[in-house]
Amino acid sequence: MSGTYLGLPSFPAAAREATRDGQLRANLRHATHTIRSKRATAISELTDWPQLRAAGAAIKDHTLRHLDHYLLQLEEAVTAAGGTVHWATDADDANRIITALVHATGHTEVVKVKSMTTQETGLNHALAHAGITAYETDLAELIVQLGNDLPSHILVPAIHKNRTEIRDIFTREMTHWGRPAPDNLTDNPTDLAEAARLHLREKFLTAKVAISGANFMIAETGTLAVLESEGNGRMCLTLPDTLITLAGIEKVIPTWQDLEVFLQTLPRSSTAERMNPYTTLWTGTTPHNGPRTFHLVLLDNGRTDTLADTTGRQALRCIRCSACLNVCPVYERTGGHAYGTPYPGPIGAILTPQLHGTTTPLDASLPYASTLCGACYDVCPVAIDIPDILTHLRERITQGGPTTRQGQKTTIKPAKRHRLEHTTMRTTRWTLQHPTALHHAQKLATHTRKLHPKNPPGTTTKAWTTTRNLPQIPPTTFRQWWQQHQKQTTQPTQHTQQAPHTEKAQPAHNTEQNELTPQTPQTPQNGKSEKGQQNEKGGRQQ
Ligand code: SF4
Repeated sequence: MSGTYLGLPSFPAAAREATRDGQLRANLRHATHTIRSKRATAISELTDWPQLRAAGAAIKDHTLRHLDHYLLQLEEAVTAAGGTVHWATDADDANRIITALVHATGHTEVVKVKSMTTQETGLNHALAHAGITAYETDLAELIVQLGNDLPSHILVPAIHKNRTEIRDIFTREMTHWGRPAPDNLTDNPTDLAEAARLHLREKFLTAKVAISGANFMIAETGTLAVLESEGNGRMCLTLPDTLITLAGIEKVIPTWQDLEVFLQTLPRSSTAERMNPYTTLWTGTTPHNGPRTFHLVLLDNGRTDTLADTTGRQALRCIRCSACLNVCPVYERTGGHAYGTPYPGPIGAILTPQLHGTTTPLDASLPYASTLCGACYDVCPVAIDIPDILTHLRERITQGGPTTRQGQKTTIKPAKRHRLEHTTMRTTRWTLQHPTALHHAQKLATHTRKLHPKNPPGTTTKAWTTTRNLPQIPPTTFRQWWQQHQKQTTQPTQHTQQAPHTEKAQPAHNTEQNELTPQTPQTPQNGKSEKGQQNEKGGRQQ
């Protein structure tokens, strides 16, 4: 891994490569199955989980409908509390603002709280380019950073690494970033955690600037919340002099009371905990306590475009719990890197193509990275109908249609390689609507069946047949079979007296051998139907 998502191949190519890695699949399977079963237990303890889920979805939907109002309220409250609010239209804008803020402090090192939004903007690379070193302080993010790797899971960014691999990374790399790993470090989890703790403590005690994301922003008071499990976030949010927070505009919620819903659903759904270990809340700045300077950078980066899509906007409800990743059969086999973006799994497959648009091969491939099994919808604590959005995006890619990019309404063209497919589908629809044409088409297909290749050439058909053969066409059409069947049932006596002229004209006692074989009903000797006989015996078929 290069440490950057730029230039990664589209999902099918990356997934093919990833599924060949047996170690990766074993690591993923073990981790996702462990987390998902713990989560199921934690959720089952709450009798009002469906109500909490509905409440979370309703709060988010309400906020999104009035996003302009709540964002302005938030800005006013943060400013009144001593913070400064900045608005960033895209990733470059956000990186430029944050780089300038760090430069203004005169420092060249920052500590970071784990943040998906900074992954989205590629902040670490932008800072490095400007001569600023960012130190990740979340244990899994630290592993990824030291290994010059990329996160592959929202909650557990180093899920693709086992502990032996982590031990090797610590031993090899820690010395280049600060305090080296202890001699003879073992792969015992306690020893690894202690090595990371000692390495990071040095950073916490010297850093003057911290950068964080935010899980929630409360509009009524301008309060921000970060939920985490290790305590590293609290160190970053309280010790340095300057705190800079980058948050997507969809993270705002109206009131403190709304927060109570998410403080119940997020920990149980992500880490399977009844309550997350560290919840840090701050409102602007406070004299003699915490950072002296606070900046909040509010990021759009495609979010208002997503909001304009009435089906796709559900994705903005996401609270990044990662439950959908842990139940996804595609994620379990490919891992997060195959998605080629910071947001892997089902949420990445719907969020990234909406934030970026579907013009690159990578973005256009993501809505297909799913079996549409629906498990992601079942576990989502804010009831995002991910399969619905996936099919919506697939339709947009294949057929084109209206969308919004950078605030402007636009119409996108159908994807090139889908035009032939589109024409084929339209022709098929017409044929199915015209029985005579269908009849002739079926007859033609059966007569020429031996000439049909198993894997037809051409880009469009290749997409259907690269990993599977076309189904074989039977020697007779269903209509032909039905006509033959009718003939046999209306002339039973004649039929039994004459030699059967096809293999399929078998006597009725063949039922157990092949249920699909056309049957000639047996006529009872007394002239009554079988049903009539059963009725006389007491109507057991009821
Ligand atoms: S889409 Fe739902 S399940 Fe997936 S990360 Fe977001 S909130 Fe969690």
